[in-house]
Amino acid sequence: MAIKVCLDAGHYGKYNRSPAVSSYYESDMTWKLHNYLKKELEAFGIGVVTTRTNQNTDRALYERGAASKGCNLFISVHSNAVGNVVNENVDYPVAYVLLNGSSTDIGLKLAKVVEAVMGTAQSGRTATRQGTNGEYYGVLRGANAVGTPGIILEHSFHTNTRATKWLSSDSNLQKLAKAEAECIASYYGVTKKEETALTKIMGNAVATVEQMTAYIKEKNPDVAQSVVDMIPLYLLEGKAEGVRGDIAFAQSCLETGNFGFSGSAVTLDQNNFCGMGVTSNGMKGNPFDTPQLGIRAQVQHLKAYASTVDLKSECVDPRFKYVTRGCAEYVEWLGQKENPDGKGWAAGAGYGAKIITILNTMIGIKSETTEPEEVWYRVRKTWTDAATQKGAFHSLENAKRCADENEGYSVFDESGKVIYSNDTFTPYLVRVSIEDLNIRKGPGTDYDKTGKYTGKGAFTIVEEAEGKGASLWGLLKSYQKNRDGWISLDYTERV
Ligand SMILES: [Zn+2]
Repeated sequence: MAIKVCLDAGHYGKYNRSPAVSSYYESDMTWKLHNYLKKELEAFGIGVVTTRTNQNTDRALYERGAASKGCNLFISVHSNAVGNVVNENVDYPVAYVLLNGSSTDIGLKLAKVVEAVMGTAQSGRTATRQGTNGEYYGVLRGANAVGTPGIILEHSFHTNTRATKWLSSDSNLQKLAKAEAECIASYYGVTKKEETALTKIMGNAVATVEQMTAYIKEKNPDVAQSVVDMIPLYLLEGKAEGVRGDIAFAQSCLETGNFGFSGSAVTLDQNNFCGMGVTSNGMKGNPFDTPQLGIRAQVQHLKAYASTVDLKSECVDPRFKYVTRGCAEYVEWLGQKENPDGKGWAAGAGYGAKIITILNTMIGIKSETTEPEEVWYRVRKTWTDAATQKGAFHSLENAKRCADENEGYSVFDESGKVIYSNDTFTPYLVRVSIEDLNIRKGPGTDYDKTGKYTGKGAFTIVEEAEGKGASLWGLLKSYQKNRDGWISLDYTERV
């Protein structure tokens, strides 16, 4: 149930100057306090009606009360006085309530709140006053006449110096307003609404093509490849108009049953992915020549709702002109039931929330990076150990392997150095033109010489390796088995 409160700032203009604090006028205080109270009540989602829009405008007392018609509560805000002289002995807050008792409970609660917040010496209380014609006070007579529980809330006395000084502080009035609003909200069982962030339709997409693709494949494993192929178009067309393309795609998932088109008014071959033109049951909706044009029309239609800015491209949306521009800035407002003006894309309840759920699921999907993640394997492999020149069994917990083991691969240590490679290698012939080219036991001058030379001739190289003393070292075929015969390829010519 929506609660509505009518607030009346007592008096008008500069009225009821305090004899204790000369800068204080009751009418100033009531105007400020009722404005603060309005703000605090509205923060609870409580509707507020005020009796006047301008502090300097007066209004008849009965009319002020009667302005509360349809409200749950009427409060006229005041500070009290004992005659027109300073009186430090009287400071009790009091709520004048209706004779019929309808405002007694909330009146007492509010008077107690004023007592607590202002720290008055005397206790908060309620009072009634009978006139010859029912309620004595005009505002209460007016409120009662329209059936509203009414209160005149006297915020202590402006004839009391301490109370008047206290009421002269804006921050004190704000505290008072906050406490009174909490009291009223609690009395009517209203809890503060959670701040719910709404999602703007205009803006940059958050979900990536990969996430949208993963989503649709998960929801509809049989999804047509043509659908997967057009996912980037949502981002492209969205960007062209400043519309979030991922929102458009999420909407399409909703409208087409995840592109299964089961129970959908439109079909895939129509290139209509948003039920465009399906204004009643049984209608087929608008067809578009290409998927891109269908998506563009949808994006433009979303922009019609979300913004008052002109389209950047030519309008291909046949229903653009029917939209009240800017009537649904947020996804949540695309549903007519949730739209503040009752306008929107769809009539069904929770339409926008359904799109948001799809969107959030998409965004929640961990994005697959285009580069495959580096995977570190435990590698157990035998190869020639550089230091000992002996075949050694190496077990590296953190070696990175690239490519498929069956196709040949390299193993890198953590610094990125190749420590093993079985990349497929095609042996080739080299010509040696000197007599004394040393054959070494490993690829580098830091390996021992075998004491043998190649002599002039042509030799087959079966493996290459980088090493000290040459730009590249080659393993001779005759030493392939033990891998212990290497020559500097700088002294050779490839044949
Ligand atoms: Zn007053």
